[in-house]
Amino acid sequence: KAITFDQFIRQWAQERPDNVAMEQEERVLTFADLEEHGRRIVTWLQAQGLAKGDRISWLGKNELTYFLMFYAAARLGIVTVPIGWRLTAPEIAYILGDTGAKLLVCGEEFLDTAHKAGERLDSPPQIVTSQDFERQVADTPADDFAPAGPDDAVLQLYTSGTTGNPKGAVLSNRNLFSLRLANGADDQPWSTWEEDEAILVCMPCAHIGGTGLGIMAIAGGVRAIVQKEFSPEGVHDGFDAGITRLFIVPAALQMVIQHPRAKETDFSRVRYVMYGAAPIPLELLREAVQTISNAGFLQCYGMTETTGTIAILPPEDHTLEGNQRMRSAGKAVPGTEMKVVDEDGNTLPVGEVGELCVKSPSNMLGYWNLDEATSGALKDGWMHTGDAAYMDEDGYAYIQDRIKDMIISGGENVYPAEVESGIYGHPDVAEVAVIGVPDQKWGEAVKAVCVPKPGHSIDAGEIIAYAREHLAPYKVPKTIDVIEALPRNPSGKILRRELRAPYWEGQE
Ligand code: ATP
Ligand code: MG
Repeated sequence: KAITFDQFIRQWAQERPDNVAMEQEERVLTFADLEEHGRRIVTWLQAQGLAKGDRISWLGKNELTYFLMFYAAARLGIVTVPIGWRLTAPEIAYILGDTGAKLLVCGEEFLDTAHKAGERLDSPPQIVTSQDFERQVADTPADDFAPAGPDDAVLQLYTSGTTGNPKGAVLSNRNLFSLRLANGADDQPWSTWEEDEAILVCMPCAHIGGTGLGIMAIAGGVRAIVQKEFSPEGVHDGFDAGITRLFIVPAALQMVIQHPRAKETDFSRVRYVMYGAAPIPLELLREAVQTISNAGFLQCYGMTETTGTIAILPPEDHTLEGNQRMRSAGKAVPGTEMKVVDEDGNTLPVGEVGELCVKSPSNMLGYWNLDEATSGALKDGWMHTGDAAYMDEDGYAYIQDRIKDMIISGGENVYPAEVESGIYGHPDVAEVAVIGVPDQKWGEAVKAVCVPKPGHSIDAGEIIAYAREHLAPYKVPKTIDVIEALPRNPSGKILRRELRAPYWEGQE
């Protein structure tokens, strides 16, 4: 069975040569194109002096060029490092220097930034725009080559940087393809694909939620509709174009279902809505399930280090009434194990909160250049997620929050995500983030930072009273701040450390 990029691409090029593999606006590429084009790119990369194990980089929004380059490089075993386009030149230079990338292909609009980053390095990479890259590749012959094996590294993805500096997770072919919800390893309906399915790639390609969907399309042999970046309109355009699956983060899902077009969009062709990467407020999930009512919802839990999804909350657990399970992030997918451990690494019984650990064929090879962080995170094949969670008797995991974000108030552990979920339903609140602030009496006090809905104003007393109805007393915020927008990273996660910083200056 196929487990490498090279095998999948050859297989689909043979079985489905004329099926569309990916498209963006006017540009459409079949699986036969992908195969042919891929071999040209491999020849071109080798002509640049690149070989298996070398790093190359992409700086830009989602373009077909990125996916073409990544897939081709992966066939040979050259490792692609996509860089988030919102990063500044010094941040980009850091990643380029860290990886020692010899080639940087960038979107036209990022050429200046790419050069600024290059100037900061002693041995800068060769910098080429995506158009130039495509032009040069078109003039190159499609030669044969020796393909990479299952355990060769092919992708180096940086973590989102939610809790600290991003770390480069090195991923192999096997990591990428062993669980892509598409290998038929189990007989779940969502791990088999109809030939005429289409998947939307709208999350950033520097994140596993973007690149991972491209990988899923290759594993499933289906059409990927690629959009430069997320917009709620774009997702509605995707529904109109007949997508059957998509993956979006909760903040994006909210924009899609609350968009005026949600009333007219025909959702009937959507088979699965995959969401995850951050906790989802229960109210929002209910609203989404009601809006896109015919689709199966799949909550996806995972991390960059596990090549994305390793646990799924299946559609049948998305019932609206009296269902505690809807608060779960799901159970381990076949081939993967989960456990919850205490600080000493002992496995905890059902119902007790500790650190969630994952053993999976999709666990990364390691962090790039960070041996200590790697041995701290990967022990005996178990990835320590840094997430606080408990499991129920059926193996469903309930993520409380990041261990780092836990608030200890008067000796009680408070998880921000739960408090946020308790406030989210208030009619004046558009968004909310909860943090711990220093407090003489309690050690830390719970604070909620709220963004009002347009045209509404926030009354602190009212929010606190509302929270009291939904939360145990020690979880209720002591104070409320109002803010125009929450700081988020490009993958849509709330940067609580930025909200916390001003309160903790000189204290930690
Ligand atoms: P960094 O590791 O750099 O701080 P990050 O952890 O946000 O950033 P990612 O690898 O993109 O980087 O995200 C993985 C994390 O996202 C998980 O550890 C978990 O905290 C959170 N997460 C993912 N899926 C879910 C989910 N379904 N529910 C709740 N949280 C989730
Ligand atoms: Mg992380």
